[in-house]
Amino acid sequence: MPPTVDARPRDTRGYPVPAITPWQEDQPQFALTDYGRSADCARGRLCSVCNTLMPRGPVWRVVGATESAAIAEALAAGRPYRNLAPTLEGPGHRACMLYASMVCPYLARPNARRGTSAAQPDELTEHVVRGAIRGSTGAVVGFADYEYAITDTQVLFRFIDVVEFLPHDSADAHLDELRAELARSAGD
Ligand SMILES: [Zn+2]
Repeated sequence: MPPTVDARPRDTRGYPVPAITPWQEDQPQFALTDYGRSADCARGRLCSVCNTLMPRGPVWRVVGATESAAIAEALAAGRPYRNLAPTLEGPGHRACMLYASMVCPYLARPNARRGTSAAQPDELTEHVVRGAIRGSTGAVVGFADYEYAITDTQVLFRFIDVVEFLPHDSADAHLDELRAELARSAGD
């Protein structure tokens, strides 16, 4: 576990609670994304998992099966990939996203199901719904940059230029990569 994630508040089972997760009394609502917390992360360039600063340079996020496939296709064709549809999912550190991708579907995809029926996913959440289906693939993806917009009701992110693509099809796919990343960070 990344040290900054280890420092997060825990729920009653001992799971670390991501920065963008709302709390209801003393219960974290893992399925939801908190508007105010998400806006704070966007404004302060904070990791959506551990709530600490992301240095200048690339940022990472976990994508579901549909977006993973679209990125793989673009890379294979030598085309640049652009996430033109904005997403509610903010970026994070490489280690945090590697960790999140392996630990918990809500951690990995904090984009929640608020107001979204699985039967009628809209464009924004379709990949989340599909990603929640057991056995489907996804990826941890590094992007050169991102931009955000804070509307009255939502915090939207858009990601630019894929710099790293780490697809996964099993829960522990990134364990070695995470260990190496944590060892590298500890040496900084
Ligand atoms: Zn982080």
